[in-house]
Amino acid sequence: MIVAIDGPAGSGKSTTARRVAKETGYLYLDTGAMYRATALAFLRRDREATSEAARAVLPDVQLGVKHERGEMRILLGDDDVTRAIRTPAISRLTSTISELRPVREKLVEEQRRIARRFASEEGGGVVIDGRDIGTVVFPDADVKVFVVADPEVRARRRKRDLEADEVSVSFEEVLADIKERDRQDRRRDIAPLRRAEDAIELDTTHRSVEEQVQFVVDRIRERRRGE
Ligand code: C5P
Repeated sequence: MIVAIDGPAGSGKSTTARRVAKETGYLYLDTGAMYRATALAFLRRDREATSEAARAVLPDVQLGVKHERGEMRILLGDDDVTRAIRTPAISRLTSTISELRPVREKLVEEQRRIARRFASEEGGGVVIDGRDIGTVVFPDADVKVFVVADPEVRARRRKRDLEADEVSVSFEEVLADIKERDRQDRRRDIAPLRRAEDAIELDTTHRSVEEQVQFVVDRIRERRRGE
């Protein structure tokens, strides 16, 4: 079972995907974390976000994904970078490097490989979140959800998450950041953020996390029953 959850930053897709994975016993794959860890590799090599730099940096980028107590951890080589990738600077750089074709090609291939491995286990399934899962990575996913929410609500959520990680930022900065990333993610040439035609839209502006999770779990149950 492959469950694709796409949507813009702060829409609630990661929270929903993580909780749906817990409820169903499927594994959670956060593709944004893979793009973020790749951005960190560019930063550590002090390289600009160009295709030329990508060709130099990418062969050395060894991404690893593991699950600990139900949480996904992302590794860059041997280094667990799960926390280090959650800064506004990395968010901005990630949107830029994720426009580069060599980056997308490498990561899409790895996402397919990892997800198929998870999904092929007995009774297995995977809940994947990102921007292009339902359109590019798994166009034939069993369940596709596109999560949306008003930008102000998304900025408030993002600010709260950052503060939980002890990163202090103003609401205005987070809102500007979210709008800029939306613009960049929607207008890029390769794999832009958009709803797949057969994805169900989930507006989380006025929904609780429990309601969002239930909505997706219900879609998975319908699918399992062959509806
Ligand atoms: O989901 P998250 O906010 O962590 O993603 C960070 C950035 O990674 C996004 O703004 C987007 O530019 C990029 N991304 C992408 N394709 C994905 C997942 C993330 O381009 N499947």
